[in-house]
Amino acid sequence: MTAPREDELRDALEQIRARLARAAEAAGRDVETIELLPVTKFFPASDVAALYRLGCRSFGESRDQEATRKIEELRDITDCPGIRWHMIGRIQRNKARSIGEWADTAHSVDNAKVVGALDRSASDALERGARPDPLRVFLQVSLDGDESRGGVDVTATGRIDDLCAAIDDAAGLSFVGLMAIPPLGADPDAAFARLAEEHHRVQERYPQRLDLSAGMSGDLEAAVRHGSTCVRVGTALLGARPLTSPPEVTRVTPSSQTTESSDSPETGHRSSPHEGSSR
Ligand SMILES: *Cc1c(COP(=O)(O)O)cnc(C)c1O
Repeated sequence: MTAPREDELRDALEQIRARLARAAEAAGRDVETIELLPVTKFFPASDVAALYRLGCRSFGESRDQEATRKIEELRDITDCPGIRWHMIGRIQRNKARSIGEWADTAHSVDNAKVVGALDRSASDALERGARPDPLRVFLQVSLDGDESRGGVDVTATGRIDDLCAAIDDAAGLSFVGLMAIPPLGADPDAAFARLAEEHHRVQERYPQRLDLSAGMSGDLEAAVRHGSTCVRVGTALLGARPLTSPPEVTRVTPSSQTTESSDSPETGHRSSPHEGSSR
């Protein structure tokens, strides 16, 4: 017999996998080329343990403090060999040292200072044998040019090229692709089409196959249509998060990044109108 929560997660996981399979089929793509990344922010370590038992191996977290606490709690619950943690939220430079220790992958890198800090931390961890591989890094791009919400302006191709090169050249990091979150209220199809264009442009400069981290609970079909190779799914899998005020409400000034540096609970990017529509 399994716990009710595990049954609930098994059903949700089945549904989201079926949804992903339908999206892949509709796009004429092989579903095996698209990673499902469960986003466990705001949910307890016991949920991670349950999803691990159900076959998930990678998990997305958006805050360093919550992630490190959860990783420790999980160690107390059970041993999870092969588990990988992905940092998907805004990265403050003073948290880069910690993130370089626990994260297998960082999806949300968008400036040179953070690239440098993550490289130092991951290189150091590699040397000590505290991590097996370089930190996998996605460059986050902003599809509406509002860099205060994270990401490098997609039209700033010079800066994008420089940052990709810096990531690719860093010994402690490996450059694995681009990531984006569609702007609030934007048509996800148009946003992901723009992202796909930039993904193709950057891909031409690199021999390794670059991934595309795009799509969440509300818009994964559109992301899959436009070539996503990693969908980050929270709500549709784990349920509604306890605090889901959009960043626009909690932010002190529209362009200020200070609320993000105060380690305030960040539920993510937005409360999307179509969030949870799959359930
Ligand atoms: C929270 C979050 C997600 C998951 O969003 P859902 O709509 O709950 O699936 C995906 N990506 C990022 C960057 C997030 O912060």
